[in-house]
Amino acid sequence: MLKIEELVSLKPYNTFGIDVKADYFITLRDEEDVRRLLRESYLRSNRFFILGGGSNILFVGDYRGIVIHPDMRGIEVIAEDENHIEVKVAAGEDWDSFVAYAVQQGWGGIENLSGIPGQVGSAPIQNIGAYGVEVKDTLLAVEGYMLDNQEFFRLNNFDCEFGYRTSIFKTKLSGRFLITAVVFRFTRRNHTYNLSYQGLSRAVQNEGDVNLQNIRKAVLLTRETKLPDPRKIGNAGSFFKNPVVGQGKAYLLKAEYPEMPLFESEKGKYKLSAAWLIEQCGWKGYRKNDVGVYEKQALVLVNYGSASGEEVLELASNIQQSVHQKFDIELEMEVNIVA
Ligand SMILES: Cc1cc2nc3c(=O)[nH]c(=O)nc-3n(C[C@H](O)[C@H](O)[C@H](O)COP(=O)(O)OP(=O)(O)OC[C@H]3O[C@@H](n4cnc5c(N)ncnc54)[C@H](O)[C@@H]3O)c2cc1C
Repeated sequence: MLKIEELVSLKPYNTFGIDVKADYFITLRDEEDVRRLLRESYLRSNRFFILGGGSNILFVGDYRGIVIHPDMRGIEVIAEDENHIEVKVAAGEDWDSFVAYAVQQGWGGIENLSGIPGQVGSAPIQNIGAYGVEVKDTLLAVEGYMLDNQEFFRLNNFDCEFGYRTSIFKTKLSGRFLITAVVFRFTRRNHTYNLSYQGLSRAVQNEGDVNLQNIRKAVLLTRETKLPDPRKIGNAGSFFKNPVVGQGKAYLLKAEYPEMPLFESEKGKYKLSAAWLIEQCGWKGYRKNDVGVYEKQALVLVNYGSASGEEVLELASNIQQSVHQKFDIELEMEVNIVA
């Protein structure tokens, strides 16, 4: 039997801590639950939303429909040799607990992605990234079901169409594909450490030797000083993506604002710092009632207690407008808005 609850508060299920309700809430505990769900006709007659750890969404009202919450667990080694190991992880596993487990096992590749909230099944959706590493770098395949025809698919890395904070699951397959498991390929020895991110190398040296454990420790410490803990202050991490612009626009801005951070991304394109742009518009540390911009990181919008989703969205749109007016740059939201 599927576990279906009615009129469920979603406050404990979103890191912004927005107090809204879902008409129905279904928890998927195992693969059998997934198959039961796929057989149900109400999936075709109701709107639904897949909710992982709720750390990359903003609810702007009660959800009139079915919220599906994957809670399938399991970590399975499916292939290994001297140098590499392939591991299949169920979608409902907690991402950071899995990173901790991988580091403890001596599996290299995701240590820089320590401390990111959410579930393993959500990691491919926006191709989570931090400290110079993205999940696509170790991801071999994504498994799941098309919800419109119940067909099972295994998409390999190339099929997932990964990009900066995006994938096919955010574009063509948005809301249509239920991820049930992710398959990774890690190194077991001769790890290639990525310490390219400014300051990370020094932070790791402070911990001692360069190894998986010390990289994880350094990343966790660095994150702690910059980002608010959602258990204390509601937030969903970076609210906006860093804008990517062409060379012409990048050089024009750099000539006008020589101190502006500018990073070369794909060929001929440049990534700007959304946090810097927002800060220049005077938003850092802004607060109105219970909604605000985090004082240590302008990219993070926060709920100090009882802010509504609409209030957060209004602030986000005001920030977009002022960045547009000052720099002629469109800030794109990274957080998914759920109405
Ligand atoms: C403090 C903080 C720091 C963060 N730092 C980072 C960071 O450094 N890098 C980064 O990339 N992100 C970061 N994030 C954002 C967020 O943690 C990631 O995007 C994470 O992968 C979201 O996982 P989730 O399970 O919470 O997904 P949710 O917020 O529940 O869902 C996100 C999207 O994925 C879809 N989805 C979820 N599970 C499935 C599934 N099984 N099948 C199909 N669709 C699904 C949802 O429908 C939704 O569209 C941060 C967030 C916070 C709060």
